[in-house]
Amino acid sequence: MLDNKDTHAYRAIARELAAKFAPRAAEWDQTRNYCWPNVADLTDAGLMGMTIPKRYGGQGASYLDTCVVIEEIARACTLSSRIVVEANMGGIAAIMAYGTEDQKAFAADLVLKGDKPAICITEPEAGSAATEMRTTARRDGNRYILNGTKHWITGGGISKLHVIFARVENEDGAPEGIGAFIVHSDPANGVRPAGFSVTERRRTLGLCGMPETELRFEDLIVEDKFVLLPPSGFKRGFADLMTAYNSQRVGAGTVALGVAAGALDHATRYMKERHQFGRPIAEFQGLQWMLADMDIGVHASRLMLHEAARSQGPGGLPFPDMVTAARAKTFATETAIKVVSDALQIFGARGYGEQEPLERMYRDVRMFTIGGGTAQILKTLVAGSRLGIKTPQTRDGYARRAGDV
Ligand SMILES: Cc1cc2nc3c(=O)[nH]c(=O)nc-3n(C[C@H](O)[C@H](O)[C@H](O)COP(=O)(O)OP(=O)(O)OC[C@H]3O[C@@H](n4cnc5c(N)ncnc54)[C@H](O)[C@@H]3O)c2cc1C
Repeated sequence: MLDNKDTHAYRAIARELAAKFAPRAAEWDQTRNYCWPNVADLTDAGLMGMTIPKRYGGQGASYLDTCVVIEEIARACTLSSRIVVEANMGGIAAIMAYGTEDQKAFAADLVLKGDKPAICITEPEAGSAATEMRTTARRDGNRYILNGTKHWITGGGISKLHVIFARVENEDGAPEGIGAFIVHSDPANGVRPAGFSVTERRRTLGLCGMPETELRFEDLIVEDKFVLLPPSGFKRGFADLMTAYNSQRVGAGTVALGVAAGALDHATRYMKERHQFGRPIAEFQGLQWMLADMDIGVHASRLMLHEAARSQGPGGLPFPDMVTAARAKTFATETAIKVVSDALQIFGARGYGEQEPLERMYRDVRMFTIGGGTAQILKTLVAGSRLGIKTPQTRDGYARRAGDV
């Protein structure tokens, strides 16, 4: 219904890759290895950086087409689909929107060759309250010096391109706002920026092949030419930061949708195969209604995500509308967690074991109401839009630190 010719072609490519990725999905989970062979296939198929405009070597694909690809791949391999999100949305989308010509060409080259950029916002003391980040970028002539720690950074140690958000200070240490910086690290090819290190990899519940890491910056030097978003006050800088995140939210919601759709397919098949009480369990109305609720949730999620993918926020920037994206991500991720859990239930003990992919999908899908803005924070956004009020979440208002503007 929403498809055009390109969408059909993208879906066909993604389906073919999903079939190829499915047999090894459990291996990445169990070994905690990054799926480099899949990245090579995604790169060859042009799906890494498909949203990058043609003038920088990409295909200028729409977010809608990207969502179709993400969903198809997520049905088979959550890890691979998450890579597609980050190679097309989030950090790379921010660079394509805000970057200089040189920055765009540089970033496009890396992503089109298979890099999944890392976006570095969260810190130990600054999760949902991202503006409370403590990482600083102090002006020093024609460069900035970064100090601080980020954690839960997806892809630390495998990503080459990093978009790092920090509190910018002038040469006297006076605050200027939140800015964003591009840092290139590629130790395997001799690019080792001094003062940039991956200090820890967390063990996670799901998506175990993706490194979730702590990064530390100790007098990390970033030349002016790698400043992506110059500081423009704390409110403005934060708003830009969140605007750039909207595409990522739609992508993350779509991964969850794909996992749910995959689980729904498994459950549908199994209900016809499995017999108890001398009949296929598909004949039990209790399960039929569960399956119907799952089907309805998946369809509604897809419609909301596609609406968000096609939306555009104010100001002409190429990002989905914030509230539409927040609404869709929240609904799709909460629905997906329930759908995958119900699919596992339909499999009974078999779903709980490793011979079926349900237990992995159940673990994989859990993160999506946390990463990229928690469900609670996104509901606050939706409620604020409905009520027409913006409620500061801090007790004493938005700007807390001396000198915040
Ligand atoms: C798998 C994974 C990957 C991630 N990848 C990245 C990444 O690549 N880059 C990056 O920068 N970050 C990343 N994150 C971090 C993610 O963005 C944060 O986890 C998220 O913003 C929430 O922060 P927090 O975990 O510190 O929770 P907190 O902010 O400490 O929240 C704790 C609880 O309180 C609730 N809460 C907080 N404030 C409010 C409020 N005002 N109203 C109602 N409820 C509230 C939250 O919803 C949550 O339930 C990732 C996280 C995960 C799990």
